Amino acid sequence: MFTERNISPSIFLSVPHDAPQFVAEIMDKGLHQWTLQRIVHLLDQDSINSILCLPIGNVSHPDRIVWPWCANGLYSAKSGYHLIHALRNVSMSNGGQSSHCVNPLVWKEIWKIVTLPKIRVFCWRIVSKALATRLNLCKRRVNVNPICPLCNDQVESKEHLLFLCPWVKMVRFCSTFNYRVNPQSFTTFDQWFKSLIQMKFPSSLDKRNFLTKISFLLWFIWKARCRFIFDGCKPEPIHVLQMANSAARDFLEACLPSISIGITNREVLPAQPLWSPPRLGWYKVNSDGAWKSNKAAGLGVIIRNSEGAFCGGLAEGKVCQSALATEADAVLSGLNLALSLHHRKVMVETDSRVVKFGISGNYGNRAWSILPILLEIRRMETLFDSVEWCWIPRNKNRAAHMAASIGIATVHRVTWLNQPPPSLVRVLVSDGLPCPPVM
Ligand SMILES: [Zn+2]
Repeated sequence: MFTERNISPSIFLSVPHDAPQFVAEIMDKGLHQWTLQRIVHLLDQDSINSILCLPIGNVSHPDRIVWPWCANGLYSAKSGYHLIHALRNVSMSNGGQSSHCVNPLVWKEIWKIVTLPKIRVFCWRIVSKALATRLNLCKRRVNVNPICPLCNDQVESKEHLLFLCPWVKMVRFCSTFNYRVNPQSFTTFDQWFKSLIQMKFPSSLDKRNFLTKISFLLWFIWKARCRFIFDGCKPEPIHVLQMANSAARDFLEACLPSISIGITNREVLPAQPLWSPPRLGWYKVNSDGAWKSNKAAGLGVIIRNSEGAFCGGLAEGKVCQSALATEADAVLSGLNLALSLHHRKVMVETDSRVVKFGISGNYGNRAWSILPILLEIRRMETLFDSVEWCWIPRNKNRAAHMAASIGIATVHRVTWLNQPPPSLVRVLVSDGLPCPPVM
């Protein structure tokens, strides 16, 4: 019964012998709600929230097996390998063995560097110990001399190759970065990178440009080293530096203007009405969810007619397992509200692509984790004369977003039939459409 519900592995209920009947007593299948009054005194608040997060769908739907470590819910050998690898790392760190653990911030920031994709992958390979330095090759039992071929003095680790080899020191010495590496305090590449991303810069643009230039410099140092190994070309520090600077400058000139323009446009856009009304005789249901990592969630729904007039809305606070479940719950609440107001032809708009595609039967991108809610949405759909589904970007869904923000600060449900609260009126008016006056 629980197979395809989004059960966290940390949740274990002590189910008595008469389990089916017991579960039936704490589950209202008709209203798709948990009724925990009978056991609430036995549980702490976290456990209660965890149970309340489990969506109750159509229980007549057959169970199916889901592999939760893949976005599509299907097992693959690759995901199995990654799981075993991750579990082994966890057990090693728990066992107190001396394994170097890379700060999660480093992994995250590497993918944010504005640079060529191949250089981002190169940086990731450095941190992943996947760079074919002499030391790494020796560790993998390749029969090579671990000593750096350029200085013939020290072991060629990634730190030596990219920072500490004498010719690389000259590259940095000639650069204009005004950034020096102290060999005595230098430990590992990822520690260095972490200190780099935590450095103070005059602006975010300065930081972005700096990281771009650094990434190009590392890449060109690596290329020069490889040219020496394979072609016998001795690296010229000045030449390497010039090539790195030139490539970084060309890249920034080609990319950054469009990025800057994009940001400026996004900041200007809200002045324009973005929301559009439905066809004559139809109602548009905008839904959105707000979710926090403590599982506190807010659902927001706004219904408007073909003239753009406000015809109903709600804000509801509840606990939800995930942001995705919150988005799907918001859609379900939208349908429930529309049905209760006798709006039979509705166009439902959500800004969650996963929910939109999930309703169409595509359970990829972890949509399988909200299958009970998706099935309930499909069941609700049959109660209408006509339902159209639409994905919209967030800037067209601001009214529902505002309602969800109200919802997350609300203990229960607030429904507005024809008079939205003042904070919503402001957003509705900015959609460029009529709205009842504030009383
Ligand atoms: Zn060296």
